[in-house]
Amino acid sequence: MRPIPTLALLILLTAGNAAATGWMDRLRGSEATDPVILISIDSFHPDYLDRGLTPTLQALADDGVRARWMTPSFPSKTFPNHYSIVTGLVPDHHGIVDNNMIDAELGRFTLQNRDAVGDGRWWQGEPIWVTAQRQKLRTATLFWPGSEAAIGGVRPDDWSPFDAAFGLDARIDRVLGWLDRSPRRRPHFITLYFEQVDASGHLHGPDSPQIEAAMVAVDNALKRLVEGLESRGLRDRVNLVIVSDHGMAELDEDKVIVVEDVVDSSWVEIVSLSEIPSFNPKPGHDADAAAALLTPLDGMTCHRKADLPPDWNYGSHARVPAYVCLLEEGWRIRRRESFNPWQAVNVNKGAHGYDPQSPSMRALFVANGPAFKTGLLVEPLQNIHVYPLLAHLLGITAAPNDGDAAVTAPMLAPAPSGMSDQKSVQP
Ligand code: AMP
Ligand code: ZN
Ligand code: ZN
Repeated sequence: MRPIPTLALLILLTAGNAAATGWMDRLRGSEATDPVILISIDSFHPDYLDRGLTPTLQALADDGVRARWMTPSFPSKTFPNHYSIVTGLVPDHHGIVDNNMIDAELGRFTLQNRDAVGDGRWWQGEPIWVTAQRQKLRTATLFWPGSEAAIGGVRPDDWSPFDAAFGLDARIDRVLGWLDRSPRRRPHFITLYFEQVDASGHLHGPDSPQIEAAMVAVDNALKRLVEGLESRGLRDRVNLVIVSDHGMAELDEDKVIVVEDVVDSSWVEIVSLSEIPSFNPKPGHDADAAAALLTPLDGMTCHRKADLPPDWNYGSHARVPAYVCLLEEGWRIRRRESFNPWQAVNVNKGAHGYDPQSPSMRALFVANGPAFKTGLLVEPLQNIHVYPLLAHLLGITAAPNDGDAAVTAPMLAPAPSGMSDQKSVQP
């Protein structure tokens, strides 16, 4: 007979002991891990909680942990920040340096370009679903920037291309359906994404009835989720981490920059025309571009890539263009040709992308579940610290990242007595 290896013996002995204490389930390899659901409400500013329109989110915050706010990474745009949240890397390190960007080999990236969004070569670093799958956990995403691409050759076990027409209740029911699977097939890590508050905020502004209707709709979806967890007896087994990527500021209709008034379009390639306009000089026009862009201007300040403010943590990645500008809050920039009153983009009432330190750009952080303390309000944290927190919750080893698990450690409830750290029960 072959001798039983020491590790197997250890697992057998531990399992016997666990049965006595009722924790057998937890000791069956990766089935031990309580599911983690990471939820993003795009553009949800933490002060929106004070409007009294989101009682479910408020109850989750009250019974769990809430940060005064979460600080976005630069730039305060959707794709860079969603990917910072799941990698623990600032955009300068994970390569999604803007929603619109150019790579010397890959060409142009936009949110509408499905081929680019689904091309793993754009997405650097390691998102948490890849970290989890490499360590034998199962993952499922119902939308998240990056989840449509094979990153390092790995996709979530279940994923879907982003589809704004996919209803709110249907998203919740899909997630609950995943949790209804047998323990051997149930995902350990799930993402859920809501774009409705962002979309209404852009069109109608952060104080509009329309954005408030979107908040109510998302909160109703959260209610359906919580009730679905309760009816399955999972409410005290699932950890919820609810975040946003940035806030939203009111646009001022009088604060418009026409890009051709600033720089001759024959001198530069426009990489992005957003709250962080960026440019590459065309060959032979560096001096012209510098003279035009570096001249002080109402509403916008531009910098050479090498001279970006150090607190942006931005400018080392090859995809960061030669000149990066930042608009002051309330300003917008347009091409002359696109500046006509009939274009939706010009009638927008809300925007983000401004300085991540600005109070209006603050993001949401709420966590609730068996791993977390209850009724705790913590100081603001940067969004790069979410990835190591997720790795801890899943009992897996984080890939190298810019975050620090020590930042979120005070949020965690003490482990139940008799239970060791989850890492020790991984297969
Ligand atoms: P923005 O406000 O420009 O930073 O982008 C936010 C918008 O991106 C949302 O309102 C969604 O419509 C869109 N979006 C979110 N996730 C995805 C995705 N995975 N693929 C394509 N578009 C997305
Ligand atoms: Zn966003
Ligand atoms: Zn947006």
